[in-house]
Amino acid sequence: MSYPMTDDQAAGLWWGLFVGDAMGVPLEFTPPNHGAPVTTFTSGGCHRASQGEYSDDGAMALAIADAYIQKQGFCGSTIQQNFLDWMHTGKFGTRPDQAAWDIGMTVSSALNRIKHISRPYAGSTDPESSGNGCIMRLAPCIIWNRHSLSAAIGESVAQCLLTHGSADSITYTAALAHELWVGGPLAEYEHLRDRPINNSGYVADTYASAWHSVLSTKSCHAAIVDAINRGGDADTVGAVTGMIAGRIYGAQTFESIHPRVLMQPALEQALDALLTH
Ligand SMILES: [Mg+2]
Repeated sequence: MSYPMTDDQAAGLWWGLFVGDAMGVPLEFTPPNHGAPVTTFTSGGCHRASQGEYSDDGAMALAIADAYIQKQGFCGSTIQQNFLDWMHTGKFGTRPDQAAWDIGMTVSSALNRIKHISRPYAGSTDPESSGNGCIMRLAPCIIWNRHSLSAAIGESVAQCLLTHGSADSITYTAALAHELWVGGPLAEYEHLRDRPINNSGYVADTYASAWHSVLSTKSCHAAIVDAINRGGDADTVGAVTGMIAGRIYGAQTFESIHPRVLMQPALEQALDALLTH
């Protein structure tokens, strides 16, 4: 563990999210270990993705980053407006002329509940509404607050509540935010990892599955490969795995792949602004 994180570790956290998402998209909804293992960017799958194309995980992270940069701090209403723009117009995504093409059920029902942007916290408290969307997009909250653990956790939970209000959503968001900030697994959250490994869209499964991949491999690339080849919600488990492993190993360790993520200039610019505010 090492904190505050270095620029390279922050870049690893950022690019790990997009690489894990983009490597996982073509494997979304496939059975575990389906065919030859995927070890790099590929194309196809149920969303007919291009190589290096990220999905909702990356787009929502960029939407959060844009709100931090615009307001020079956390603003729930600005983030929620960006989420709505993404859903309706595809802004922050990879297909500018197309509305969001990969959107989770918990997220879409929350966004459809918004009546006025001044009241942006739309997450349901129903325990069944515990999708992994709340943890897949944490990178900007952690990088912006890399010098303040309390702000990193507090703002991570606040962004969770925009779309996810269940107890599990909050518990796992706070745990992952804490661990991303310090850069390693913490004993106090060990019980959250102690469950069968399964790439479902449930926030608890995604958290445990991502940590399993990080703790059973020795590089960011190997962790992502391990995570996405379990299929299921491969892109989001890939994104969470990429954030954790990228934060631990740093961006330089996978610089042969992250410059090939689509939308590179916008992502590069957002990372620079998160780091230098
Ligand atoms: Mg996705």
